[in-house]
Amino acid sequence: MQSVYPGVFRLQSSFGSNTYVVRAGSSTAVIDPGLALNAGRIVEELREAGLLGSVTHILLTHHDFDHVGAAPRLQDETGAVVRIGAADAEVLAGKRTAGTWPRQLMARVPARRLNGPIRGIAGAEEVFPGVTSVPTPGHTDGHVAFLAGEVLFAGDAIRAKSTRSPGGAEIIQFRLFPQALTNDRAEAVRSAEILRGLDARWLCPGHGRVREMAA
Ligand SMILES: [Zn+2]
Repeated sequence: MQSVYPGVFRLQSSFGSNTYVVRAGSSTAVIDPGLALNAGRIVEELREAGLLGSVTHILLTHHDFDHVGAAPRLQDETGAVVRIGAADAEVLAGKRTAGTWPRQLMARVPARRLNGPIRGIAGAEEVFPGVTSVPTPGHTDGHVAFLAGEVLFAGDAIRAKSTRSPGGAEIIQFRLFPQALTNDRAEAVRSAEILRGLDARWLCPGHGRVREMAA
């Protein structure tokens, strides 16, 4: 595990999307466990870190398979509750269409259903001690980011790109995913602005490296 911040880690075995771990007391939350084919490695890394038995929450930023695929296996291993934006919970349950055409195609691949509890997130709430959901629809209808103190888990609400100022300072730009992977562009733009306004210091995106944002 790579330490990001006190109590926040990134799993080294992440594959497909970034997987993060948040500790609170003796409990552990896993954010976006990633692709199904990598589930065994995620479970093994958590076991080696001595955390597997403490996982009480699986927090999902959205329903895309590269973020949630490993969730059923991780839930089977831990009995953790799955939390995901309410609209995306309906997609996982097969009660709502996935959105754009690439997603509809992907949804035809039968995904393993979750066997354990799943609770939709309706708005901003504390989903794990010290971790608050930030509704950020657009990429998917029920996309949520998570904020833990100064650390922002942005999921796929934005893609971070770094440029340099003339003085050499890193400037982080928030960009959106391509249109074909954005269910509602206007909402996605609004959501990116919401994330910009949070003044988080550490950006943990769904894809790409962890970045420190300028004050
Ligand atoms: Zn996505």
